[in-house]
Amino acid sequence: MNNPTDLQINDQWIRNHRGAKNRIDPYRPYHFLIEKERTLDGSIENVITIFLSNKECRFNCLMCDLWKNTIDTPVPAGAIPQQIEWALEQLPQAKQIKLYNSSNFFDPAAIPTTDYSRIAELLESFDTVIVENHPLLTGERCLQFAGMLHPRLQVAMGLETVHPEVLQRLNKKMKPEDFQRSVMFLKGHGIGVRTFILLKPPFLSEKEGLHWAKESLIYAFDSGTDCCIVIPTRAGNGAMDQLQVEGQFSPPELISVERIQEYGLNLKRGTVFADTWDLEKFSRCELCFEKRKERMERMNLTQRIVPGIPCSCHSQAFSCDH
Ligand SMILES: [Zn+2]
Repeated sequence: MNNPTDLQINDQWIRNHRGAKNRIDPYRPYHFLIEKERTLDGSIENVITIFLSNKECRFNCLMCDLWKNTIDTPVPAGAIPQQIEWALEQLPQAKQIKLYNSSNFFDPAAIPTTDYSRIAELLESFDTVIVENHPLLTGERCLQFAGMLHPRLQVAMGLETVHPEVLQRLNKKMKPEDFQRSVMFLKGHGIGVRTFILLKPPFLSEKEGLHWAKESLIYAFDSGTDCCIVIPTRAGNGAMDQLQVEGQFSPPELISVERIQEYGLNLKRGTVFADTWDLEKFSRCELCFEKRKERMERMNLTQRIVPGIPCSCHSQAFSCDH
């Protein structure tokens, strides 16, 4: 692990490296989409994701770029239900829905608690509702909302990494135990949990990045999560780009994303997804990239390891026996 003594990473340093935000409308989601995803019961279903326009998150995590599509002040009461209603009118039916608000669903400055009942009403026809939240904001409000919902609630939380110093430097202001406590609370009340894990966060080498992603998967499943999503760490938010310039960060290689996905599936502890968004950024070989991406998407859907893709770029690395 690189350990520069002079680099003081805090809210201010992270914010100082930011560019401008995009302009967004508090009465419209800034994006929505529908895709296929494997559910916890093993079926493959259409899943809607609505990217809600919301107030910026209070945490300023080092790797986060979600602030780009946020506003500085709380949205008016009623705006979030209006966004959801509008997006659902544009979309076909689905059984699962993710409401991602670039912040924490259970932060009352983000989603007004007075909106919970109208949101629950709009979601009545779904089987599962997934929202994102910081482990430190787990509590009574989760139960309040879950109690109003007809669908099952699943809360998505970032564990990021269990490397103690790296997690601290990510400025997420939590420890692995906070995550664990939060999972136990939610699961104890019948609420599902999905966990985001970073592959190769800053300050780690390729090998260390892979090792700590494995440790983090085990920790997340030991804590009781139902599902893990491994996200290859990206630059693009200013702070991460600065760390890259300083030699403190480089994105993981595509082969490491495949390896951690295979490792996670082999654990057979729960659902494991590799995040395949923007995956070409991690590839160095045009010959095999599309095939490798297809392979990973197939493994996401089937939750089974499929044969590796042989290619001269990584000839011996591609057997799936590692
Ligand atoms: Zn290749």
